[in-house]
Amino acid sequence: MSAGERVPVGGNPEFADLDHAWGDGTRCVHAGQHAAVPGEPLVAGPVLSTQYHLSPGGEGGETDVYGRAGNPTWRALEQAIGELDGGRCVVFPSGMAAITTLLRVLLRPGDRLVLPSDGYFAVREWARTELSGVSVREAPTAGPWTEDVFDGAVLVLLETPSNPGLDVCDIRELARRANAAGAMVAVDNTTATPLGQRPLELGADVVIASDTKALSGHSDVLLGHVTVRDADLADALRRARTLSGAIPGPFETWLALRGLGTLDLRLARQAENARAVAEALHDHPAVRGLRWPGWESDPAHAVAARQMRRFGGVLGFELPDADAVRRFLERSRLVGAATSFGGLHTTADRRARWGDPVPEGFLRLSVGCEDTADLVADIRAALDGISWP
Ligand SMILES: *Cc1c(COP(=O)(O)O)cnc(C)c1O
Repeated sequence: MSAGERVPVGGNPEFADLDHAWGDGTRCVHAGQHAAVPGEPLVAGPVLSTQYHLSPGGEGGETDVYGRAGNPTWRALEQAIGELDGGRCVVFPSGMAAITTLLRVLLRPGDRLVLPSDGYFAVREWARTELSGVSVREAPTAGPWTEDVFDGAVLVLLETPSNPGLDVCDIRELARRANAAGAMVAVDNTTATPLGQRPLELGADVVIASDTKALSGHSDVLLGHVTVRDADLADALRRARTLSGAIPGPFETWLALRGLGTLDLRLARQAENARAVAEALHDHPAVRGLRWPGWESDPAHAVAARQMRRFGGVLGFELPDADAVRRFLERSRLVGAATSFGGLHTTADRRARWGDPVPEGFLRLSVGCEDTADLVADIRAALDGISWP
């Protein structure tokens, strides 16, 4: 199958068919919903059972046999995300479980892996400490992507927009070059979500994501997924999940599916709020280094606008120092101090406290679904009295 072609994930009689002409809102509401059967519930609940009825004579043919190997609630979420990502989806109990399972399945001792030097820190840490025998090369998301980066690589992991710096790289261009050098390309799509960006259509081989963030969106569930074009790779990921036992809880999976139904609405409000907050921040005397890929003067905007379908609610900016961040967070009534992002509530995280290679006063701001005017007024008031020396 060539890059950019959609994998048909519909046609499963268990689920309602989606029309690919439908918009994001319609698709989010209907993706992963069960086909209409009179008398059956409109909304299916989570299936918690660990055991399934088997054919008494052992003839086989059961869809599910045991809870570690398969679960109808997983399939509903996989159907939904697969429709939106445009590939075959396998869900995992966290973003890290998704990423580490992919790396374990694809890499062997002696292989070379390329990771973003400015991406999610736990991936680099895990590769350094747990992935023995694999050589890791780090490259910054913003480049330069010189030819030697791809030399001998088996897998190139991109993260765009990157967390926390919000740099962007050109997926189509890098996938073409990596594939030409014999490497597969996986894109961490956590920040963008399937509505913000469809890496498989841009030529990537694999999408990985933490659905703990905007996809679930309510800050009450950890989950992750891998979506691929290749059916054999999807089977290998399912097999690794079954054998390792790193499986998602059915109730958590159901919460994620419930959250996904409003993804379009939430992202629309978050992006509207992010734009208003960016406007308020960009010439504020307390703020430097504002980053939001949707902002026309952002260094990443041109590439972002080419490959992203919409921009989310995550911004980055710098205050003078850690104390200015503390004062800002103490004075704000709507911006909570919390790590993670993508939820209904606006939160901010001073990433240097976790060891990210960013300035002491750098804040990642995750804009929530509050009213725009309230949020902008609160942030302006909280910044009063802060300025660069
Ligand atoms: C949060 C995050 C992860 C890890 O996901 P968990 O669900 O916390 O395991 C991976 N990549 C990115 C970009 C993230 O933001």
